[in-house]
Amino acid sequence: MKLVAGNWKMFKGPTETLAFFDAFEAPDGVEVVLCPPFVSLEAAVGEEWPIYAQNVHWAAEGAFTGEVAAAMLVEIGVQGTLVGHSERRQHFGETDDTVARRAEAALEAGLGVIACVGETEAEREAGETEGVLRRQVAVIPRHEQLVIAYEPVWAIGTGKTATPQMAQQAHALIKSLHPTRVLYGGSVKPENAAELMAQPDIDGALVGGASLDPASFSAICRAAV
Ligand code: PEP
Repeated sequence: MKLVAGNWKMFKGPTETLAFFDAFEAPDGVEVVLCPPFVSLEAAVGEEWPIYAQNVHWAAEGAFTGEVAAAMLVEIGVQGTLVGHSERRQHFGETDDTVARRAEAALEAGLGVIACVGETEAEREAGETEGVLRRQVAVIPRHEQLVIAYEPVWAIGTGKTATPQMAQQAHALIKSLHPTRVLYGGSVKPENAAELMAQPDIDGALVGGASLDPASFSAICRAAV
């Protein structure tokens, strides 16, 4: 069964979160996860879908202003978390080391993890894609509750999508390094979702912009079946 996860980034407070769930429908035969911002998690966990946070800290508690601990997420019914999203790597100083620490703490607390990897445009143009993926994947813990998302940074929020063949090639490499499910992310839309998810090593999708609208996210979920 494919897994389709929606990353809402910094969109939708609790009121808009509830409005989304009023309109959202998904067919049987697809696993669906939604990742609202921290303040909307509690509203979302009352709904029927597994809810993941977008980030988590590695410490159990402490002087880490603005961060949230794994046990706090578990306490309110959150089932998992993203780690290492490229926007965290680009804008908030996330490194391979902190990605690994966040993933380990989340898994230890019983959360599922979607760990994001992917090369930048400059890295792809310099022929460094394989090296970057090898380096990023090497630190990701092996665990049955962990899924990897391959998100080429140049395809996130840009409207540029990796061709199904490019994505397949990267997924095959990642799977040869880490035995887990691998989702594709980067401008996935209702129009391209079925072709991407038809590739043998693409086990689902991590969807940003197109997950904000219940109709388009529903269409992507249907394309996964
Ligand atoms: C994402 O935020 O993980 C993502 C893939 O965004 P988008 O679908 O908007 O490119």
